Amino acid sequence: EAKGKGRNAYEFYSSFMSEQAEQRLLMETNLNKALDRKEFILFYQPIIDLNSNKMRGGGEALIRWNHPELGLQSPASFISLAEETGLIIPPIGYWVIQSVCEQIKLWEKQYDMHDFRVAINISVVQFEDERFVEKVKTILEGTNIQPNLLEFEITESVMQNMETSIAVLGELQKVGIKISLDDFGTGYSSLSILKHLPINNIKIDKIFIDDLRAENDETIVQNIIDMSQNMNFKVVAEGIEHEGQLDFLKHNHCDYGQGYFFNRPQAVSDFEKNFG
Ligand code: C2E
Ligand code: MG
Ligand code: MG
Ligand code: MG
Repeated sequence: EAKGKGRNAYEFYSSFMSEQAEQRLLMETNLNKALDRKEFILFYQPIIDLNSNKMRGGGEALIRWNHPELGLQSPASFISLAEETGLIIPPIGYWVIQSVCEQIKLWEKQYDMHDFRVAINISVVQFEDERFVEKVKTILEGTNIQPNLLEFEITESVMQNMETSIAVLGELQKVGIKISLDDFGTGYSSLSILKHLPINNIKIDKIFIDDLRAENDETIVQNIIDMSQNMNFKVVAEGIEHEGQLDFLKHNHCDYGQGYFFNRPQAVSDFEKNFG
């Protein structure tokens, strides 16, 4: 009986594995063609100014893949795959920057973009292109938008190549692009990164916002806000889902917030309703 059970477990396991592997293969082959087939879409999530409760901070562009068979896919399911397969991430990354700039150009004609910025997530892999800054400049010139309407979000993984990162970030800032440190607190070198990297904003990771009722997390969040503001960074809290979290953050003078409590990432037509 034990033997039979074992075999069943094995069969279950192996069919589960092959399904996973099949799915991955399906993703991988299609990912190569997704750009040409125009299957990527950008959603935007408002970043709320916690003083005015308005979308003054701007929005964050978040990529989605409209897979021909699997439907709308979130980046968790394909970004790391794209990074691993190497060749794919640069074109996707440039497509995101180009698309956001074109979108900003359209918004500039219709809305008051004073104090408004669009944030783009930049994978550390993109910094490996020696011509990254040059290509970004070309996109800016081609679309003719004000560079200060753009913000690039990087993560602590840029520490892997500190010298290059410092140089690249400095050049981007010279162009007028603001730099945010995303997912702050989840990396291995949070404090030393603040000392070395040229950045403008800190985004406190959702994991610290999730448990704001826990005493330690309150202390951590309070101190990240204080320390960041003393260093002249603006602070964004990610993943606000409840009013209690918002109250705490406002009470502690956090500058900006983002989360399902305000809005989920939205398609352009819905996002535009937040301008006002
Ligand atoms: P991120 O940059 O930290 O983006 C925040 C993620 O948290 C988004 O997930 C957003 O939808 C989600 N989120 C926002 N508020 C809440 C909330 O209140 N509750 C919960 N549970 N989640 C919330 P998304 O869109 O699935 O993106 C996941 C990650 O994929 C992003 O994390 C970013 O690292 C990466 N990503 C997204 N778009 C791009 C892109 O264009 N290029 C690159 N390289 N990475 C991207
Ligand atoms: Mg981000
Ligand atoms: Mg984040
Ligand atoms: Mg992230």
